[in-house]
Amino acid sequence: MTGAEATPDRIELRGLTVRGNHGVFDFEKREGQDFVIDVTLHTSVARAAATDDLAETIHYGELAEDVAGIVENNTFDLIETLADRIADHCLSLCEHVEVVVHKPSAPIQRTFDDVRIRVERHRAAGADAGETEAYLSLGANRGDAADTLDQAVAALDRHPDITVTRRSSLFRTAPWGGVDQDDFLNLGVLVTTTLPALELLSVAQGIEVACGRTRELRWGPRTLDIDLIRVGGEDAEQHRRTPRLTLPHPRAHERAFVLAPWAELVGDTLIDTPRGRRPLSAVLAELDDQDISRITSG
Ligand code: ATP
Ligand code: CA
Ligand code: CA
Repeated sequence: MTGAEATPDRIELRGLTVRGNHGVFDFEKREGQDFVIDVTLHTSVARAAATDDLAETIHYGELAEDVAGIVENNTFDLIETLADRIADHCLSLCEHVEVVVHKPSAPIQRTFDDVRIRVERHRAAGADAGETEAYLSLGANRGDAADTLDQAVAALDRHPDITVTRRSSLFRTAPWGGVDQDDFLNLGVLVTTTLPALELLSVAQGIEVACGRTRELRWGPRTLDIDLIRVGGEDAEQHRRTPRLTLPHPRAHERAFVLAPWAELVGDTLIDTPRGRRPLSAVLAELDDQDISRITSG
């Protein structure tokens, strides 16, 4: 279990050239000039590398468009401000970013190569909304599945920005999704975290990779699967729908192995279903045809 936490990986975008109207002089605001942007995102690419899947990483085409939009759609006196705004946007994608803004046509009456401002920003612990609660569902059905789940929970808790506050019993579940395979072991954990949801997903996926997961059949056997079921409490639940992350998890309501550990941890709560928000207990009661049994207490 190494490599799940701090990462030396980076995504770098270099030399993005965008015309903008920044500067203290009127003619700069009026006529505009080229600004050249470099962005470095310190973020794990382990999962993307293991799966060779674009959805697993930060899409640099989208990143370039977002950064270009910030340059084009604002007018700042200082490139310091511009760099700061770009860094601020990038902190929604990962926790540690560097941004360089070059102004090669700056109004300087001497021969020069370049003027640049470099900012480096870390997302402050507890920034944004502070601590968020999340419910994660973990499953494994290969190798020593119980041990893998122990390792995964420990790895989550070891992360400096994640605390595992509660862990459910272990459940044995018949496989889901029609692929012929061994039974699954499942459990759920409640965590608190200062990470945004996408970063929490990256950490979870880093732990999957560290536990030996490789790209396999969807819904087929796997060493470890960690899904984000709900981020934010019942009243402050985050909703999003992108290929990389859909919240709340769109299939949670169909799965006893997700709901039974959750019920054990929180009692009852309202969850999203195709029939609207309903009590977890009622939804779980309707899944009584699913073969699931509690095998140890958490
Ligand atoms: P299922 O999502 O039905 O449980 P799965 O867990 O087997 O399927 P994976 O191969 O583990 O599917 O993940 C597929 C993709 O789902 C991942 O690349 C991940 O980015 C994306 N994804 C979207 N929403 C979530 C979520 N809430 N939790 C975890 N992964 C998610
Ligand atoms: Ca899953
Ligand atoms: Ca998954």
